[in-house]
Amino acid sequence: MKRNKSLKAVKRAESLMPGGVSSPVRAFKSVGLSPVVIKKAHGSRIYDIDGNEYIDYVMSYGPMLLGHADERVVKAVSSSAADGFSFGATTEAEIELAGLINKHFPSIESVRLVNSGTEAVMSAVRLARGFTGRSKIIKFEGCYHGHSDSMLVKAGSGALTTSVPSSAGIPENLSKETLVAAYNDILSVKNLFSAHKGEIAAVIIEPVAANMGVVLPEEDFLKNLMDLARDNGSLVIFDEVITGFRLSLGGAQGLFGLKPDITCLGKIIGGGLPIGAFGGRKDIMEYLSPLGPVYQAGTLSGNPVCVAAGIATVKAIEEDDAVSKANSAADYLVKSLKDELKNFNDKITINYISSILTVFFKGGSVRNFNDVMKSDANRFKGFFASVLDAGIFMAPSQYEAMFLSSKHTTQDTDKTVSIISEAIKNSL
Ligand SMILES: *Cc1c(COP(=O)(O)O)cnc(C)c1O
Repeated sequence: MKRNKSLKAVKRAESLMPGGVSSPVRAFKSVGLSPVVIKKAHGSRIYDIDGNEYIDYVMSYGPMLLGHADERVVKAVSSSAADGFSFGATTEAEIELAGLINKHFPSIESVRLVNSGTEAVMSAVRLARGFTGRSKIIKFEGCYHGHSDSMLVKAGSGALTTSVPSSAGIPENLSKETLVAAYNDILSVKNLFSAHKGEIAAVIIEPVAANMGVVLPEEDFLKNLMDLARDNGSLVIFDEVITGFRLSLGGAQGLFGLKPDITCLGKIIGGGLPIGAFGGRKDIMEYLSPLGPVYQAGTLSGNPVCVAAGIATVKAIEEDDAVSKANSAADYLVKSLKDELKNFNDKITINYISSILTVFFKGGSVRNFNDVMKSDANRFKGFFASVLDAGIFMAPSQYEAMFLSSKHTTQDTDKTVSIISEAIKNSL
């Protein structure tokens, strides 16, 4: 595959932008390649500026459940843009999106729109602290909740009770307020609750982890976690920025029948335009300004063009039964892949739910961050380079999900299975 134009564009980007990118994973650092520069995308396909075509499994890291440039969403965005981009006042469209969110997420009795998933989580954490009058938060190692200060924290070496910032520029006084537990390990959470009685405002979790690769919650883990939090007077925050409107229309909580106190959304609810939202119990949400003492605001929050994209996306997902379509495509892909790779179970693990999956370069099971770290990142590198050259665009990291859309066809998935399984066999 020729990538001359991409190479040239990346050089110029690197002279103007840190790492040549607006978000770090796009730099392809972990796979040691020069990134492709994208021109456009339609349906399941994405095209770089050299004219190469790829089957897309990045899908903008989650928002594009309907595939790229769905006609109905394009139309809604154009027509909203023609009527002005931003007003600094409430619109009917915002109310409609809030209604759609409430319809599919009964736990979200009241919702605030923001501009990104990061902002949703940052504000939800402040709200939980304000509502409970407590300062500590429990998060899980390997879960990603955006890049706000309180969430860029990892477990220190040794005991799980010490936390350290996972980025420079975060005061330790703040990071020590975030406690880190192990995913699927209820005992690690119990220990934190007993060590910090009456201090924990909330537990935040990706109900299905999708930012360390896909890692599923084990039977009753989420339920036990919620019981534990409530017994201790702490709130439960589900970060459904990826899983919302994807695992089911009502997200992971709809699929599992759970009711968190606060939920964070993003990605799909903007259909690819920048948006986020957080919402939950009415008595909690009433702590937010202008009703309550917890301040939160945004010049562009509820932006009409983003909201139009979100409404059109959610309605099209309902109309097309897009969740089932994407699930069937993923189901078929995973079954075929498992069949092709059945002799390599000691080297490969495929974690999968609904329309997200990760192929880990590790045998056995992958049920937490420690397991994820045991996968062979070097093998992934070679694998990534060869599938990219064969026309498969996936995230340049072992620790990301592959995202399917309702526009992925059997032809797409058949081609993908043959390319991926060949590349895996060659890499082992
Ligand atoms: C993407 C993501 C975020 C952050 O959203 P941004 O829009 O990138 O700020 C937060 N939580 C989860 C689970 C995510 O996947």
